[in-house]
Amino acid sequence: MAERVVVVGAGAVGAAIALEAQARGLAVTLVEPGPPGGDQAASFGNAAWISLQSVIPPSEPGVWKKIPGYLLDPLGPLAIRPLHMPGIAPWLLRYMAAGWTPARIAAIARILRPLLAEAPDLHRALARDAGVPELIAGGGLMHVWKDRAGFEAEATTWGVRRAVGIEWDEVEGEALRALQPDLSPDYRFAVRVGDSAHCRDPGGYVAALVAHAERRGAGVVKARAVDFTFSGGRLTGVVTEAGTIPAERAVIAAGIRSTDLAVRLGLRVPMESERGYHVQFEGLDLGPVPPVMIQDRKVAITRLATGLRVAGQVELAGVDARANWRRAEVLKTHLLAVFPGLAEAIRSARAVPWLGHRPSTPDGRPVIGRSPHPDVLVAYGHGHIGLASAPRTGRIVADLLVGRAPEIALDGFSPARFDGFGGI
Ligand SMILES: Cc1cc2nc3c(=O)[nH]c(=O)nc-3n(C[C@H](O)[C@H](O)[C@H](O)COP(=O)(O)OP(=O)(O)OC[C@H]3O[C@@H](n4cnc5c(N)ncnc54)[C@H](O)[C@@H]3O)c2cc1C
Repeated sequence: MAERVVVVGAGAVGAAIALEAQARGLAVTLVEPGPPGGDQAASFGNAAWISLQSVIPPSEPGVWKKIPGYLLDPLGPLAIRPLHMPGIAPWLLRYMAAGWTPARIAAIARILRPLLAEAPDLHRALARDAGVPELIAGGGLMHVWKDRAGFEAEATTWGVRRAVGIEWDEVEGEALRALQPDLSPDYRFAVRVGDSAHCRDPGGYVAALVAHAERRGAGVVKARAVDFTFSGGRLTGVVTEAGTIPAERAVIAAGIRSTDLAVRLGLRVPMESERGYHVQFEGLDLGPVPPVMIQDRKVAITRLATGLRVAGQVELAGVDARANWRRAEVLKTHLLAVFPGLAEAIRSARAVPWLGHRPSTPDGRPVIGRSPHPDVLVAYGHGHIGLASAPRTGRIVADLLVGRAPEIALDGFSPARFDGFGGI
């Protein structure tokens, strides 16, 4: 009988792990309380970027000077709810430490690069196998500034990207107008990372991957996993609200909720929700144009099969705090400012706001590897890059499950890095 593995969570990460585990001969059951790819998951509502260039940790040198502003402006690109500040302090200290110096940022970029390299091709292969090749689109990803000086002000991070092998074209003048015909003339300088890609419908994509796993024999149990059972030091099952599923192996891939399960195994990884919002203008199809990140506004604008989506920003308020939907209004204001010519189409489309939880470790790196119990693996904390890095994560975890050496070095993703303070 094939070894049985339970994958907890059917977001992008869990779905990719399930497919790769099946490809290595394991019998897979996914446990997921919501609809796979549904709006309960970060994988539903992200900006859809499959970004090779996302190797930079979220914090930057000198970020501590900005914290008073983050506390005072609930609508800024990064906001901290004052009531949440005491609880978040230890995570925030590690977050600041991760981006304290350019050398630390470069060290993290070197770790993240192999996790993200080939992400577009790995997604294309998954999408093709699942019968939805049209959901992965090429054409690159763009970052825009008002002028070249804006780009040069970010020389540290772009220099780090170049040093790890990321390539881009600079785009100005008529060439920029040709690629982004609707962009406000206030934005005059851009870079295009031509090898990056995007997903045309992240929620639909995850649903398609899970449906494909089911066609290949995976079980999907609609329940929440709450614990594990062991006998003689070996895993015997995963306890869910719908009963216990017998298993020899398990993987925790439950996004922001992973810590609830990890602590059952004695694993304490510092995690916070970097809450992010999107507004999607339903059905608004404005033609194929590369997704664009407006660098001074910290928003990404992506044309999806399902509509026009503006997404981004970070709010630190905890998982369970109520949404501040005024942030969705702010996203819409940014969109109208950046694409003034599309104002009428945007205003007449139905706007659907969403709040989701980036499952974030303080150093921007997921935890991938063994938990304190060798039969239970962990694959969570993918923060800002979980869509892009899901296929590689799936391959790594599946290799570990069958005792093969993983394709990339895992030291930088070890959960043990948080055992002491400091950590890169
Ligand atoms: C606004 C925003 C923009 C983003 N943009 C991008 C982007 O452009 N590119 C990119 O790569 N990343 C982006 N991200 C990050 C990315 O969406 C996440 O890193 C990624 O979706 C995490 O995937 P996951 O499978 O780990 O978690 P999730 O997608 O959250 O899935 C976890 C699943 O586990 C389930 N679950 C929870 N608890 C349990 C339990 N106890 N038992 C069983 N199941 C459980 C949940 O219901 C959920 O379906 C963005 C995130 C946000 C919020």
